[in-house]
Amino acid sequence: MTTPLPVVVPPRPPAKLPPILARWTQEILGELPPSEPRSTCDACVKLAKPGEEYGPRHYHPDTKCCTYLPVLLNFQVGLILDDPEVSEQGKRSVEWRIEQGEGVSPVGLTTTPSYDIRYNDDSFGRDPGLMCPHYLQESGGCGVWHQRNAVCATWFCRSDRGGASFSFWRLGYLRFLRAVEDAVAEWCMFALGAEEEEWGPWSDKRAYYRAAGRLTDKLSWKDTLQLGGSKIATRGEQAAILYKQMMGAPIVPEELADGRGPVEATEESLRAAETFRAELQKDKDELL
Ligand code: SF4
Ligand code: SF4
Repeated sequence: MTTPLPVVVPPRPPAKLPPILARWTQEILGELPPSEPRSTCDACVKLAKPGEEYGPRHYHPDTKCCTYLPVLLNFQVGLILDDPEVSEQGKRSVEWRIEQGEGVSPVGLTTTPSYDIRYNDDSFGRDPGLMCPHYLQESGGCGVWHQRNAVCATWFCRSDRGGASFSFWRLGYLRFLRAVEDAVAEWCMFALGAEEEEWGPWSDKRAYYRAAGRLTDKLSWKDTLQLGGSKIATRGEQAAILYKQMMGAPIVPEELADGRGPVEATEESLRAAETFRAELQKDKDELL
């Protein structure tokens, strides 16, 4: 029997993350994770190739994987509206959500019942009716990419280290970022005198969101950790464990790049997995 040769890829540059997520990541990992260029989004790997028939494993060419209505927390809405790197089209898509009024609250822009009712496991990537309002159909890009949320920033359909990468991005890192996003949004809301359903002194929703975005400039990492209590610290530790595990894992061959490959279990990762399992069901909706 011959031993398979190790798979070698060129060094990967750091992942391009929204500035606020990058700031939190530096605090917990000490660096930014490497990018995942096997998810070739500009030439999406999930589309039917020329001459190939559109089948059940393909994503729809009008949407790719952007069949998702992203929750944008209050501060993210403000950061998008004020970020010169976000295109006018991207800003308009956020304005549109605010004007529609559904799922608009002091917490941010959340998902809506009319969207949720249409969503199911088979529709992901395949139902153009679920196209994200921030998706730029002409270019196939994302209108709010520079300030996209944690779910979008950690989603890769293919990765260098298969199952180890999936565990890091989706089970460790995403859950850490989601905990920080929620804690910061809640803090912004109370700091601005609002409550979940009450806008307090704010008659102008855009002004409220912009104020929330500006508040995050003043928030040090020490303050952020205090806001989230042990949840952020614990999830940060779990993300760091899975990051170490991912970076120590071999590069997988192409056929395992979708994350289905086995993950070598270590004592640390098993302990982390044990903690995750109890929380995963609770967080299922957040992971979509
Ligand atoms: S992450 Fe999405 S857009 Fe990028 S290659 Fe995968 S399915 Fe296509
Ligand atoms: S926010 Fe951007 S990356 Fe996320 S689903 Fe929408 S278009 Fe895609």
